[in-house]
Amino acid sequence: MILNYTYRIYPDAKQETLLLEWLETCRVSYNYALREIKDYISSRKCPIDRCSLESEYIMPCHYPFPSYHQQQNNLPLAKREFPRLASVPSQVLQTNIRRLHDAWDFFRHRGYGFAVIAIESDLSIPDPMPHGHCIGVDVGLLSYCATSDGFVEPGRKFFKTAYRRLKVLQQRLSKKQKRSANYEKARKRVEKQHNHISFKRKDYQFKLAHKLGDMADTIFVEDIDFRLMAKGFLSKQTIDAAFGQFRSILKYVGKRRDVSVCEVNSRGSSQTCPNCRIEVKKELEDRWHSCPECKYEIDRDIASAQELCNRGIEMLSTQGLWGKEIGYQVGLSGVMSLDKWRGVARLNSDIEKPAL
Ligand SMILES: [Zn+2]
Repeated sequence: MILNYTYRIYPDAKQETLLLEWLETCRVSYNYALREIKDYISSRKCPIDRCSLESEYIMPCHYPFPSYHQQQNNLPLAKREFPRLASVPSQVLQTNIRRLHDAWDFFRHRGYGFAVIAIESDLSIPDPMPHGHCIGVDVGLLSYCATSDGFVEPGRKFFKTAYRRLKVLQQRLSKKQKRSANYEKARKRVEKQHNHISFKRKDYQFKLAHKLGDMADTIFVEDIDFRLMAKGFLSKQTIDAAFGQFRSILKYVGKRRDVSVCEVNSRGSSQTCPNCRIEVKKELEDRWHSCPECKYEIDRDIASAQELCNRGIEMLSTQGLWGKEIGYQVGLSGVMSLDKWRGVARLNSDIEKPAL
């Protein structure tokens, strides 16, 4: 058992000089030992098959990690080389090294517990082939998305309360004096809230992607460049809704669930009747599709999604991809998939999962 007592000491001038010398020697030896650890770490940062520009093998690869015991055992050798070390009692130097390693261990537990291993391989997981039940998905601002089967995910002002809090925090930050301690505190709060919102949004999008994955085997989405849309007059809402991110998440989820997600040309998809394919002009505020030609009536977003589905199936047929599928998917021709949604648009409440 070790008991530590602390006493106040009153050294005379000579003793004080001596103690200061010891302290300085301790500082130098501490830094030397720390440098040795740091060199070891940076020597091993470099990829094994090459020399990087920022780190080299300062210490050869067979050199062991400079542990406490190793550095302590090296002290007598070091004393021969640097006589200054000998003037300090050996326990003092040993304790010094011990303190360094305690601090090092503490540092490694805290926050540096992860190792990122990147494995490169020639294998690539192929994208799922289009097959089975197809749906088109139209994203919008009034409804977050609508499918050709009639499912509508209601539009949402993203996390109203979370945004309100963000605004308050930003206002508080603007009143703080720059580079003061309070400014830094307020800035961290704003950053935290931003992260919170982005996490919530991602979580929502993952759940929605899985929901859509439950509904279909093949999903057609717009090929629109949402970044351009974000520059227009709908900018704020578009950025909030983060459609580009949603499309990426949908593809990611699809790949893991064997749901094919394809982009199709979306130009004018909202201005086309999905039933007879003539152009039916609509303004942004027109929420209803009503075809003067074939009398097809349906919600505007659902009509757009159905047109996307049409185009997707056409695209696959022209590429010869669809024929390949129907070769062994008896009774699931593209035409039948088209028939599935024709005239059978149902209310959101009527469907949870479309019948396959
Ligand atoms: Zn029509």
